[in-house]
Amino acid sequence: MKKHFDYIVVGGGISGCVLSYTLMKYGASVIMYDMPKENKSSAVAAGLWNPIVLKRMKKVWKADEMIDELHAVYPDMEEWTSSNFFDPVSIRRVFHNAGEQNTWMELCDSPAFSPYLEGCISPLPKGVIGAFESGRMKGTGRLNVSAFMEAVHEALRKENGFREERFEWDAVFRDTEGIDYKDVRAHAVISCEGAQMALKEHALDQDGFSPVKGEVIRVKLDKPLENECIHQKHFMLSEGKQEVTVGATYAWDGFNDGPTLAKKEELEAHVDKVWNGTHNTLYHLSGVRPATKDRRPMVGPHALEHTWVFGGMGSRAVLMAPYLAKVLVEHFMYGTDLLAECLPSRFS
Ligand SMILES: Cc1cc2nc3c(=O)[nH]c(=O)nc-3n(C[C@H](O)[C@H](O)[C@H](O)COP(=O)(O)OP(=O)(O)OC[C@H]3O[C@@H](n4cnc5c(N)ncnc54)[C@H](O)[C@@H]3O)c2cc1C
Repeated sequence: MKKHFDYIVVGGGISGCVLSYTLMKYGASVIMYDMPKENKSSAVAAGLWNPIVLKRMKKVWKADEMIDELHAVYPDMEEWTSSNFFDPVSIRRVFHNAGEQNTWMELCDSPAFSPYLEGCISPLPKGVIGAFESGRMKGTGRLNVSAFMEAVHEALRKENGFREERFEWDAVFRDTEGIDYKDVRAHAVISCEGAQMALKEHALDQDGFSPVKGEVIRVKLDKPLENECIHQKHFMLSEGKQEVTVGATYAWDGFNDGPTLAKKEELEAHVDKVWNGTHNTLYHLSGVRPATKDRRPMVGPHALEHTWVFGGMGSRAVLMAPYLAKVLVEHFMYGTDLLAECLPSRFS
């Protein structure tokens, strides 16, 4: 006897979790396959969301729509899972010169930026080094990604919608109505497999991914840092108990090498430069971001029938996933348009 589901979701990182919830919210049944203990980008993500690219002071693509959807979805997911994982955290940009201060104050007067930037220059918190003070952002925060994924997996497990096993693409059989996969029958299967789609040979052979490796360190400081995130080249995010997460680095090779000494030293040198005190590193993690060649996500049909791709969110899955999940699920339910710039077929 086959078990019937509307959708099979392959992958239980940020993308798969948000998409599964959204499908269920619109009335679809879901079964998720995930390998929670395998290396995944979501497990090392700091979980920050921020609608502004601070280095260039530019808005992220579709930032306003994404922020609106983020604030609607994660609190609902907290209620659905009876868990807490969505927290406001102020992000502070440290200025390197008077020109950056001026740009900040000018942007504060523009309607596009004023919802996100505090309209004043603020002194730096105790312990942080910088000659030109800082600007604080409004409405930013962090998703505690590990707690979030655990809560979603557990909620799905309770509805018999979670299997901790590798999904074997070779065992998928397609017909005109949908797919058979072992003991499951479904309308469609959606790959949310992150960078793994690009890092090894994959049955879907989806072109366009360009993975980016990232590393973070967890550091104990000699005195506490206020509950916020300090951004100056790298971020330093307060985790309580005088601990901070520092990151992240970017690299386009060494995907299978794990954490490297060179990046650990780069991040420790950063703390030396910005922190007026002593510190020691507690641990060090690495992951591979599922980025794409044109830096747009990957959301839409795959060339194979009844097969879809949802991912490619690079370093911003927390911000992007709720909005993109809505776009995809409303396409399934109501036939609304997908986003042309995100279609996987743009790389064919
Ligand atoms: C150091 C670092 C810091 C970051 N910080 C942030 C941040 O602050 N904010 C932010 O928004 N983003 C951040 N990111 C980026 C973020 O981690 C990614 O955008 C996001 O995690 C991608 O999620 P995903 O679900 O698409 O992929 P993944 O997290 O990689 O999840 C894919 C899942 O699919 C599973 N899987 C794959 N193939 C199969 C299969 N065949 N069968 C079953 N399961 C399978 C994997 O085991 C994995 O669990 C950071 C990334 C790094 C590396």
